[in-house]
Amino acid sequence: MNYGAVIVAAGRGERLGLGVPKALAEIESVSLVAMSAWALAQAPELKTIVVVAPRGFVEETKNSIERWRIPKIAEFVPGGEFRQDSVRAGLDALPAEIDAVLIHDGARCLVNVDLVERVMSAMRIHDAVLPALPITDTLHTNEDGYAQPAPERSTLVRAQTPQGFIRRVLEEALRIGGDGWQRSTDETALVRETVKEAAFLVEGDETNVKITSPVDLLIYMDLLKMRSSHIKEDA
Ligand code: C5P
Repeated sequence: MNYGAVIVAAGRGERLGLGVPKALAEIESVSLVAMSAWALAQAPELKTIVVVAPRGFVEETKNSIERWRIPKIAEFVPGGEFRQDSVRAGLDALPAEIDAVLIHDGARCLVNVDLVERVMSAMRIHDAVLPALPITDTLHTNEDGYAQPAPERSTLVRAQTPQGFIRRVLEEALRIGGDGWQRSTDETALVRETVKEAAFLVEGDETNVKITSPVDLLIYMDLLKMRSSHIKEDA
């Protein structure tokens, strides 16, 4: 199987409140998107990576990754308005020989190579693979401000990325989904609802968090700094 990855990093990241797109936020000079790219590039079997950059920031994104000599990056392309537009742009830029793709949130910049390999290895058998973790909080639904019953906690999982797909399955899902699924926040739901393929679950990783709000930066600062220094040592 020829594995490739698309890092979707084109979100505005307004919740982080830094005034720059989230992907370009830096911890000790290393951008969050460079951290994601570095981690994926560690997987020996992964051949190539396409980075989907925030519109208007393709050059900055390219510079923020190339300065650390991160290998395997094939291309930088501008993202779209919605996540699925960005996924489509990234897929279109992957070389033709890539037949298995990992779609990764640029904001999950603490992802590690063991998790990436877990997903890739399950893709030898399954057309769609989702890394996920159990839920420890008690859940309720919010109905007009009142807590109402939620599905049994043990039946639910928290989805992470990279999510793995056989390329033609994901391309078919995007084609069928068309504009109706543009706002989908992950590809597992898109693929399940369009081509009726449920993703196989593999274990996620507690440190593979999506950096979303300023408090995430505080909570994970030690890990972010550690990653930043590994990347500098590697360069
Ligand atoms: O907004 P959210 O945190 O769910 O975004 C998840 C990932 O999707 C982020 O890494 C973000 O950069 C990416 N994204 C994108 N293009 C968009 C919207 C989000 O690449 N239009």
